[in-house]
Amino acid sequence: MHQGVKCSICGEKAVAIIRYARLRLCKRHFLEFVERKVERAIRRYGLVGRGDRVVVAVSGGKDSSTLASILAKLSGKLGYKLYLLYIDLGIPVYSKANREKVVELSKTIGKPLIVVDVKEVLGLTVPELAFKVRRPVCSVCGVVKRYIMNAVAVELKASALAMGHNLDDLVAYVLKEFFNQNLEQISKLGPRTGSVEGLAVGRIRPLYEVYERESLLYVLLSRTPFLPDECPHVRRGTMEFKIKELLDSLEESFPGIKFGLMRRLAKNLESYPKPSQKLSRCKACGLIASGELCSFCKITKQALGEPMGARVREYIRRKILELGLD
Ligand SMILES: [Zn+2]
Ligand SMILES: [Zn+2]
Repeated sequence: MHQGVKCSICGEKAVAIIRYARLRLCKRHFLEFVERKVERAIRRYGLVGRGDRVVVAVSGGKDSSTLASILAKLSGKLGYKLYLLYIDLGIPVYSKANREKVVELSKTIGKPLIVVDVKEVLGLTVPELAFKVRRPVCSVCGVVKRYIMNAVAVELKASALAMGHNLDDLVAYVLKEFFNQNLEQISKLGPRTGSVEGLAVGRIRPLYEVYERESLLYVLLSRTPFLPDECPHVRRGTMEFKIKELLDSLEESFPGIKFGLMRRLAKNLESYPKPSQKLSRCKACGLIASGELCSFCKITKQALGEPMGARVREYIRRKILELGLD
């Protein structure tokens, strides 16, 4: 790659050209560059504090593997505890393969892993659950993942749930919400969202300023375990996908334009309207809800005759005890 191009810092063979930063970097300096970006985002946006517990949701894909690996590296220096969470959705082939990768990742970076197996706790996989309630797999999957991630973070008394969204993902979400003029949704796309005591743990996005290609190159060069396949339910040709193509061509002509937007958005977040929905406690499971029942308890009640949130929380508590993480 880039024959004869030398690292701007040390003069060794460059493996990456970072156009927006006018840098050419060798392997070592590229890895440091990405790690430093994450550390700076953590400090700049106040994402994690000393003594905090942080749960990172890992999927086996490049972004969450990059994130887990860098958060593990920084955990000693910044003084927080890190836990990995994998949700086995029961998607044939895909879920098992990713689960094995995540087990490998947990060993490589030396951080504990909690696995929540949806079939084990509900008796149904996510595709089976979606079929029962006659809803698209991706929408049911979103509800199940959000619920379990929050439940694990609450049970671990974590102060933050770290998500692997990269810069390109986030810019595309922002633009999509902008086209639909869902300004309240944009207000949730900053580097962090707030916690609601005992009900919901706030999310942080330490890859807020890391481009997708930087995240990919990072896992490859650092030999962090990951799988390149994406979920078989992902659809091409959606609006989000088209927006990404459009943004990539803009970035090509104006290097750094995505980065600039997200920096400015983080500064302007306060001026976006906040979602106005009233938040309450789910009658069945006790976690955050916007009505009587949370979305997870609603869906499971519809599919199985009873809301399953409380059972999932019990399952998670047992797992935490078994792993000796409490
Ligand atoms: Zn170098
Ligand atoms: Zn509930």
